[in-house]
Amino acid sequence: MRKKTQLIHGGITGDEQTGAVNVPIYQVSTYKQDAVGKHKGFEYSRTGNPTRHALEELIKDVEGGERGFAFGSGMAAITSIFMMFSANDHVIMTDDVYGGTYRVVSKVLNRFNIEVTFVDTSSVDEIEKAIKPNTKAIYIETPTNPLLKITDLKAVSTLAKQRNLLFIVDNTFSTPYWQNPIKFGADIVLHSATKYLGGHSDVVAGLVVVNSEELGNELHFIQNSAGGILGPQDAYLLIRGIKTLGIRMEEIEANSIKIANYLDEHSGVSKVFYPGLPDHPGFDVHTNQATGYGGMISFDVGSAEKADEVLDRVKYFTLAESLGAVESLISVPAKMTHASIPKERREELGITDGLIRISVGLEDAEDLIEDLEAGLKS
Ligand SMILES: *Cc1c(COP(=O)(O)O)cnc(C)c1O
Repeated sequence: MRKKTQLIHGGITGDEQTGAVNVPIYQVSTYKQDAVGKHKGFEYSRTGNPTRHALEELIKDVEGGERGFAFGSGMAAITSIFMMFSANDHVIMTDDVYGGTYRVVSKVLNRFNIEVTFVDTSSVDEIEKAIKPNTKAIYIETPTNPLLKITDLKAVSTLAKQRNLLFIVDNTFSTPYWQNPIKFGADIVLHSATKYLGGHSDVVAGLVVVNSEELGNELHFIQNSAGGILGPQDAYLLIRGIKTLGIRMEEIEANSIKIANYLDEHSGVSKVFYPGLPDHPGFDVHTNQATGYGGMISFDVGSAEKADEVLDRVKYFTLAESLGAVESLISVPAKMTHASIPKERREELGITDGLIRISVGLEDAEDLIEDLEAGLKS
């Protein structure tokens, strides 16, 4: 089954009982048992719900794993994955990781003595140097946010296997339409489904896919114990969103390539970060492991003042956090998504005050380019 077909025919489709062509919203908390312990597969909706189950089966198929899980947000998904670790375990993580992930590991999970080292995971040597006797996992994003740095999935998974470490990938930016990390040896893949998978800025959710039965049982135990589950209405919205992921990503990418090329030639822009530009440092690696370049572009306009001017003038780009929706969004990471990262650390990473990040949507590319043209006029 090819990808666009799988997005529609993967997982559980329709409802056996009624013939409904969509999985209904099972707005239910508990299920009648014929005798104690004798039920039709569902007992209580924290443990399992048919609408959530249909979504979990769909994302499992689309990522090519063994088992899928749906959580109430991307952060709930990430926190649940970390609950598989114990005090004094150590994890190696991408240095320009999503701001909320940085916050939860450095300000919450540290209280439970889960230790994290941040490294530039685009260098496998840097990862290897950071491995300690208590290291349990390597956690990466590729491309990263907001600098679109690329990590080599195959090389890191080879290292992880040699050293008996779990390999965890946040695949939010690429989406399972373009990139399937399990195919390259990842053990756990996660998504903030709030972004491209939902796709319409109307749901907050997290999805996880694991590559083995054993990890599946472990994560289900955590999901059921900690309880950070996704409700049936939101599960329904996500199934609906995932059906159009393919056509949305194709169109978003076509727009993005036009915009990246436009920005690349603009004299007011000192640097463009987009993995689809051949001079991007991760272009070759990304091209080998993904079938598309996505819709996230960052560019540097030199100063916070200039960035403010651009934000003020654009009318089709909505000033907002988040990404991956039908409408184009614009943000200044230093003041918004990455504000929780200390300034010195931001500068170390290259997240300058003049860095603007856009999430390209489905509007007409010409309108979006005219909008940026007005924003960048000196
Ligand atoms: C948004 C985001 C998250 C967090 O997901 P929420 O759904 O907002 O909790 C994690 N990782 C990445 C890459 C994100 O963009």
